[in-house]
Amino acid sequence: MTSARLWIISGPSAVGKGTVCARLRALHDEPFYSVSVTTRAPRPGEVEGESYHFCTREEFERMIRDGELLEWARVHGDNYYGTPRRPVEEAIAAGRHVILEIDLQGARQVKAAMPDAQLVFLLPPTWEELVSRLVGRGTETDEQRRRRLETAKEELASVGEADHTVVNVSVEDTVEALVGLLGL
Ligand code: 5GP
Repeated sequence: MTSARLWIISGPSAVGKGTVCARLRALHDEPFYSVSVTTRAPRPGEVEGESYHFCTREEFERMIRDGELLEWARVHGDNYYGTPRRPVEEAIAAGRHVILEIDLQGARQVKAAMPDAQLVFLLPPTWEELVSRLVGRGTETDEQRRRRLETAKEELASVGEADHTVVNVSVEDTVEALVGLLGL
């Protein structure tokens, strides 16, 4: 356990970041879970302000210009994602744990700006399992899947940048590992 307050949960597409963070959130509501801004269209069931803040490309570019994003990245080639700066800074100032579920490009920016941030990288048990999770969730087209798997290969090759790695075999075990790391 460290005294770190800012935690970045990253890892390849479909490794289970979203599911793990949702379970952690259901068990522990003390950490502040940052809600990202994205230009991606909402998926069925996603709620504005909970899953993401959905916005236009123009609005996203305005936020970049006005310095409102702590980090931002174009992910999987088509959409932009970013972390609103103010809520994160306010939560840290209030002494709360903060959790960012973001991609590796964003994680690098946050670590550069806030070196105390801890990067937790979730790994799939095997490459085949990652492919099967991505295919199984059925939310991407063939072309989107191909791109996500390409990015996943690059991200997995950068695992050495992580402060902590957790192999996501089961959601329960991964959440338990995170609870231990964060000292919740
Ligand atoms: P999805 O479209 O499946 O919700 O997310 C696609 C990817 O974008 C995931 O790897 C997710 O972690 C990443 N992501 C979500 N929010 C942010 C963010 O605010 N910043 C960055 N850099 N990546 C994000």
